[in-house]
Amino acid sequence: MTTSKAHTAVAVLGTGTMGAPIARNLHNAGLDVTAWNRSAAKAAQLSEDGVALADSPADAVRDANVVVTVLKDADAVLEVLRAAAQTLRPGTMLVQISTVGVEGISRIAKFAWSHQLRLVDAPVLGTKGPAENAQLVVLASGAESDRDVVGPLFDAIGKKTIWVDCKPGEASKLKVVVNSFISTLTHGIAEAARLAEALGIDLEDFQNAIHGGPLEAPFASIKLDAIMNQQFAPSFTVENAIKDSRLVAEAAGNAGVWLPVADAGLERYRAAAASGHGGDDMAASYFAESGLEASDHAS
Ligand code: NAP
Repeated sequence: MTTSKAHTAVAVLGTGTMGAPIARNLHNAGLDVTAWNRSAAKAAQLSEDGVALADSPADAVRDANVVVTVLKDADAVLEVLRAAAQTLRPGTMLVQISTVGVEGISRIAKFAWSHQLRLVDAPVLGTKGPAENAQLVVLASGAESDRDVVGPLFDAIGKKTIWVDCKPGEASKLKVVVNSFISTLTHGIAEAARLAEALGIDLEDFQNAIHGGPLEAPFASIKLDAIMNQQFAPSFTVENAIKDSRLVAEAAGNAGVWLPVADAGLERYRAAAASGHGGDDMAASYFAESGLEASDHAS
């Protein structure tokens, strides 16, 4: 099957923080987009932007030759694909964008194989802003023959596509590697901020100390701004960061590599969620407290 941009019918399943702008940008690029979301209210704005909405996953994929999944995790992707299975046609391309990890993409690949779908593993780098501005980085692995089909889709949502390999699953491995680094940056800035405050150091002095030098990382600077302004509207929630940290831990365990920093990072996110920040941005790692600190504050 060859599919040009002009007659590509795309079903986007999942219109959360990432899925909504992805659907909108695909539509704005001239593709014929139908979107579905479990909570219909979250997809309503898309209708005003011109995106067609479907009442069920099966309705969304009925006429699609490309299905894009942007859902929480592998379990959600499989649940939604099973709900769509009766109208998924053999040969349909499945572009899997959600972060599902190494084991998750292998389960999705089995589903794709058994339903004769052409899987392109395509997790993305970039948060809400880059998704809205079509500036994502797409990490992709899939058959060479499918690259012409998905190229226009990736151009519509991102600034760069990195083709990792022909075998779906390799891109999800790279995504897990990058996520382990993202976690380190986030907790690094959150812990330094906590230490600064505990030592009576002004956060502006800390910010100035690293500003403009080799220690400044733009991503970490955004998280430091969030902490200094106490603005934790989510680009990526603590709950999703817990999910991604588990995927890092699982991949490391299966590969036999020791990542104690990643394990500690998972604990920080869990502690932040336990103190009521699960729906906040991952910068809310800042709020993580050990039982010891919490009881100190109480006394
Ligand atoms: P989100 O805003 O929390 O949206 C999650 C989506 O998954 C929603 O559409 C939600 O539906 C749906 N969902 C969850 N469980 C479901 C289930 N069992 N059945 C059906 N739908 C289900 O998350 P997001 O930030 O858009 O992230 C989506 C994916 O992209 C995740 O895998 C995430 O790790 C990845 N990602 C996110 C970012 C980021 O910065 N946000 C960056 C790169 C990759 P409801 O609306 O009904 O809850």
